[in-house]
Amino acid sequence: MGGILDFVARFGTEERCIEHLAGLRWPDGFVCPHCGGREGWRLKARPRIYECTSCHRQESVTAGTVFHRTRTALPKWFLAAYLMASDKRGVSAKFLQRELGVAYQTAWTMTHKLRHGLSEDPALPLSGFLEADETFIGGRGDAASPGRSTANPDKSLVVAAVEKVPAPRNRNGEYSHALKRQHGFYAGAIRVNVLPAATAPQLGAFLKANVAAGSHLLTDGFKGYQGREAALGDHLKHTPVIQGDGPNAAEFFPIIHTVFSNIKAWLVGTHHGVSAKHLPRYLREWAYRFNRRNLPEGLDRYLIRRAVECVTITYGQIVAGADPGGAIRQRRMPIPVAVPALAG
Ligand SMILES: [Zn+2]
Repeated sequence: MGGILDFVARFGTEERCIEHLAGLRWPDGFVCPHCGGREGWRLKARPRIYECTSCHRQESVTAGTVFHRTRTALPKWFLAAYLMASDKRGVSAKFLQRELGVAYQTAWTMTHKLRHGLSEDPALPLSGFLEADETFIGGRGDAASPGRSTANPDKSLVVAAVEKVPAPRNRNGEYSHALKRQHGFYAGAIRVNVLPAATAPQLGAFLKANVAAGSHLLTDGFKGYQGREAALGDHLKHTPVIQGDGPNAAEFFPIIHTVFSNIKAWLVGTHHGVSAKHLPRYLREWAYRFNRRNLPEGLDRYLIRRAVECVTITYGQIVAGADPGGAIRQRRMPIPVAVPALAG
């Protein structure tokens, strides 16, 4: 099983989507958020609404999720999540507009609302042996500029940390060509974000928030990673491997440089470039997919679950470039349990 036909068979109707959302929201059956009552019935005219049989207050199955008050049919939302999750290149808003038969702005908003929830759990930081580095994305920045300045408003300073996982050698004790280039390491999990500036406090805060204490971090010799302000000495073992960030940086940090070029290729190839204010959300989607690239099953159910579990964002916040935090609001078991539909 799997694939788009299977997905459409499961989630091709409003009713099936409502049942799935109800199963995520109430894994053990309906629970009234007001009185704790365990019995509810559905309103025939408004099928997303459950009414508590005890206190008669009403609760939408989409309350607090990205689907709340949406005028778009739920199967379109589910299919959008499926399409975003099914290919490592993701999909553009233009593609969704065409495939879902919705207005461009609707498709664009759906993609941003879905990707907003794709943050990583701060309780599960990176650990072990890592590389960290920064790059500029967007704008027409001078690549040769050594100042790591963000004077160009279209140019974003992006920082990433990635785990280096030791790879096994073959029976001749050699690595494959790709692994040789990566000094015998695979990429593990990644964290990536936009920083306002490459200052020691900013870089230090990013690393402390995303890397477990006691990990071993490799960086270039940039002074932002060193000194008392970054304060990494208390938190991480830090080895600056080369002085400055000369042209050979890619050779010393092959994994993170591959990651940066893949991110840039994705932003241009799939999305034809993105504006600086929306970049953090795109990075979130890219990292989410990268960190789950080895999952045997598709990511679509995960995206739908995140849409239910995460703090949502409004259209106004998206266009204003706000980031109300994509934190996971609640953890629920991803077991879809159909709630019996009681006509009311
Ligand atoms: Zn109640």
